[in-house]
Amino acid sequence: MNREELEKIKQKAIQEHIPIIMDETLEVIEKYINKNKPNRILEIGTAVGYSAICFSEFLAPNGKIDTIERELDRIKQAKENFEKVGVKDKINLFEGDAIDILPNLDNKYDMIFIDAAKGKYPFFLENSIRMLNDKGIIFADNILYKGYVMSDYNKHKQRTAVRNLREYIKNITENKDFNTEILEVGDGLAVSIKK
Ligand code: SAH
Ligand code: MG
Repeated sequence: MNREELEKIKQKAIQEHIPIIMDETLEVIEKYINKNKPNRILEIGTAVGYSAICFSEFLAPNGKIDTIERELDRIKQAKENFEKVGVKDKINLFEGDAIDILPNLDNKYDMIFIDAAKGKYPFFLENSIRMLNDKGIIFADNILYKGYVMSDYNKHKQRTAVRNLREYIKNITENKDFNTEILEVGDGLAVSIKK
């Protein structure tokens, strides 16, 4: 893969305030996928494709990533970026709202990365659990949302997001099929391994 292009994509995203995975969060996930070499990855929330490109390096041979994005401009940029970096044949982009796309997907994944609208995390989780292979892993980014999720302050305008992130944590930690850890890296990362 073309690392120089990847760095350009990262810098452009930062400049344009397009959300991308934080370095320390990426490090945690890369460590895991480097060891486990997943064959199929699902990502919910592509943005301009930065994280998907990073993950693609650690796939098993012939492994593939499915990723979902709903914003047209980002879809366009992501496609261009996959081409530029030379990973186009490893990544399949679903264009549209994950709310519509997920219920129609019936694939099996070794890893799922949830990184989209926080208010929909419980819905994303439900669908992720349905499609995850045994021994698979679900990562959920931004799970602590600037610390709001673990504080009792409840009046900020993000309270729907906060309520749904709390619901995500409750649902996955109570799920006996999973071992879950909440890591305080970046904006918070929930790591759930299926037993
Ligand atoms: N994973 C990316 C960053 C994703 S930012 C990276 O680290 O490089 C979150 C993205 O999710 C945004 O681009 C937003 O448009 C998209 N998104 C949010 N809710 C969505 C939904 N319901 N369906 C599809 N995409 C969604
Ligand atoms: Mg994120």
